[in-house]
Amino acid sequence: MKVQPSHHPTRYWHRLDDGRIQCDLCPRACKLKPGQQGLCFVRAAEETGIVLTSYGRSSGFCVDPIEKKPLNHFLPGTPVLSFGTAGCNLSCKFCQNWDMSKSREIDTLAASASPQAIARKAKELGCSSVAYTYNDPVIFLEYACDTALACRELGIRSVAVTAGYISPGAREDFFAVMDAANVDLKAFTDDFYHRLCGGHLEPVLDTLKYLRAETSVWIELTTLLIPGHNDSEAELQAMTAWVVENLGPDVPMHFTAFHPDWKMLDVPPTPPATLTRARDIALRNGVRYAYTGNVHDSQGGSTWCHQCGARLIERDWYRLGAWGLDANGRCASCGTPCAGVFEARPGTWGSRRLPVGISS
Ligand code: SF4
Ligand SMILES: [Zn+2]
Repeated sequence: MKVQPSHHPTRYWHRLDDGRIQCDLCPRACKLKPGQQGLCFVRAAEETGIVLTSYGRSSGFCVDPIEKKPLNHFLPGTPVLSFGTAGCNLSCKFCQNWDMSKSREIDTLAASASPQAIARKAKELGCSSVAYTYNDPVIFLEYACDTALACRELGIRSVAVTAGYISPGAREDFFAVMDAANVDLKAFTDDFYHRLCGGHLEPVLDTLKYLRAETSVWIELTTLLIPGHNDSEAELQAMTAWVVENLGPDVPMHFTAFHPDWKMLDVPPTPPATLTRARDIALRNGVRYAYTGNVHDSQGGSTWCHQCGARLIERDWYRLGAWGLDANGRCASCGTPCAGVFEARPGTWGSRRLPVGISS
């Protein structure tokens, strides 16, 4: 079936008494007159309601290692067909993908592909999953969900890379078709979310609690540590203690390095020692799987058995090394299960990045 990029109807809105239409997809709750776009640029009000203007359009497709999402406990070593669209519902000053997330030029999105074409391509390329990533898939929910359903029919799993900034009512539909999610926990203060992202912390924590309590989606968390903004001892203590108390010890945490970008060029890159310190705090607070990211660090990048300390999965950046799990995902030394979704053997994709074209 050929899908023309179009203004796709959505279900998450209601009319206000003053004639405007409120978008109910995310906590921004944009109130729009017909003809106006929301803060995310890709949802707009028409006389008939809110529409998604980027359905069927992508900024391009690429096969990545699943470790790049980052997901370390979900089908390690396998290739994932990744794509994004344009726009975002947060406005992070440190955005590391701003060329896409800040794009208002929907018409310049390079690729156009139907959900079925994406699923078929993933199958043809031997990908275990498709990732909705680069910009936040929450804002292109209808396109992501239709693609996830098409993938499910072909036995391909779906991965959301998201900030979790989505409202109750929509998040049930979105996560019902996802198999795994990497959720950004950008900081642990509302001040950070408000000042640097134009959002709030509480809705993100709500999404995380919802995911853990109400769904079987495999989740991992990522925190980009920005010197002087979210890397204090007290904040990392509070964040990691909250994770263990509310999500349990088995949710992996990734602490990744910031590089000056977008509107935050005056802050230096994160020193590797900061990542190691954050990982140590997490481990001390009971997080069983904590990682340093975007650096060469075999200790901080590998998976270790929380019971006996054996190395379960050796990693250097996105490349896997020695494998210490048995065919059932248990520690080969002591038999303790490792939390996650594992196949009998690791994938062999390596650290390659392969751009691909898809046409409907
Ligand atoms: S999804 Fe977009 S239009 Fe809807 S509330 Fe969020 S930012 Fe506004
Ligand atoms: Zn063990």
